[in-house]
Amino acid sequence: MNENDTERMLAFLKELRYRPTDTPELADLILINTCSIRDKAEQKVYSTAGRYKRLKKRKPELLIGISGCVAQQKGGELLKRMPYVDLVIGTHNIHRLTELLKKVREEKTRVVSTELYNSIDSKEFPTPEVEGIKAYVSIMRGCDNYCTYCIVPYVRGREVSRPARDVVEDIRRLVDRGVKEVTLLGQNVNSYCGDVSFPELLRMVCRVDGIERVRFVTSHPKDISEELIYLFGEEDKLARSMHLPIQAGSDRVLERMRRRYTVSEYLNKVELLRRLYEDMSISTDIIVGFPGETEEDFEKTMKVVKEVEFDSIFSFKYSPRPGTEAATYKDQLPDDVKQRRLEVLQALQKEITLKKNRLLVGKTMKVLVEGESKLDKTELTGRTTCNRVVNFPGDKGLTGSMVDVTITDAYANSLRGEL
Ligand code: SAH
Ligand code: SF4
Repeated sequence: MNENDTERMLAFLKELRYRPTDTPELADLILINTCSIRDKAEQKVYSTAGRYKRLKKRKPELLIGISGCVAQQKGGELLKRMPYVDLVIGTHNIHRLTELLKKVREEKTRVVSTELYNSIDSKEFPTPEVEGIKAYVSIMRGCDNYCTYCIVPYVRGREVSRPARDVVEDIRRLVDRGVKEVTLLGQNVNSYCGDVSFPELLRMVCRVDGIERVRFVTSHPKDISEELIYLFGEEDKLARSMHLPIQAGSDRVLERMRRRYTVSEYLNKVELLRRLYEDMSISTDIIVGFPGETEEDFEKTMKVVKEVEFDSIFSFKYSPRPGTEAATYKDQLPDDVKQRRLEVLQALQKEITLKKNRLLVGKTMKVLVEGESKLDKTELTGRTTCNRVVNFPGDKGLTGSMVDVTITDAYANSLRGEL
């Protein structure tokens, strides 16, 4: 989501004839797009900004801005804390970037813009500046779920969906720029409520000429419908992979997290997906060390992970976020307990991922070619429908096409194959 926000900012900045650079010393403007989902991400903002402060000393006309969730949450406080920052722009004001920058430049002033809006406007979504064949498209904004650990509803506001025709138009424009794979984005895509339902939107997107593959994140387990599950069997372009965050394997913890599903409800959905589609890959998010999580609760998470054998897991130590309900719970766990649980979980998942990757050796899979491999220019890289990275020898001219690749080797994070 943050990457997509960055791409939207690049699209607006293009209007003012800014171009991206990899060399901060050459920049006239540095925008630090921030995340506040965990404390570590938030702390990074201050160290990153500190580094750019030195550049500004040497080049006083350099403008520095902070955008994203930390900007939204802290607002004007950031200007006080960092006197070298010129602009603070919140999550709902990206479309005002050019206007605010002009103000900073022309009036030599510092600005903060963190108003939140309850409606959504098509002008907020320029066609994102993307390179390559893959792109993200936001289909909604915000979240109304208020899981007790999560800061998103506070920093991204109420849930609002974009009209389906705007989404489809964006995708058509992306196709004109060479995009072949699109990922629809939302905090909870299954509660999309534009003018059509989420499965209907997916159908419309799959029918856009030139699109080869469609993905979506994130699905909330409480909201995925059977209609969506059956859609994977109807639409060939819909990639056979689903990110379905379980967060914890103990009903007691899930309830305190306010996730609104039980472990067995979750498992039933996974079972149906796997029964219908043997090649379906399922990834998840897990938080360890939520307040009051006992050793027994944690063991339940480990049990679910062993049972489900997720294709991949994003796992995090619980991080108390100011303003959220769980941050006020009295039974916070010490960091060493969280750290140990994280390591145990990650070690288990590493074995599972490797084992599952090895099972693919010998199979021939459809791979959408993304371009040259970064590590070896004579090789191509792409992804399978089940979202695994495959590297294989081949000609760069195949970029953007769907090819059959036979898997020859499997590693922890990627596969090797041949055409
Ligand atoms: N909307 C998505 C995810 C948003 S945040 C969903 O509901 O699944 C991405 C992930 O960050 C979450 O799934 C969760 O695992 C993790 N996360 C969110 N808040 C956190 C916190 N306070 N501490 C640790 N991890 C957190
Ligand atoms: Fe956060 Fe829960 Fe909303 Fe996901 S569904 S963004 S975890 S509040």
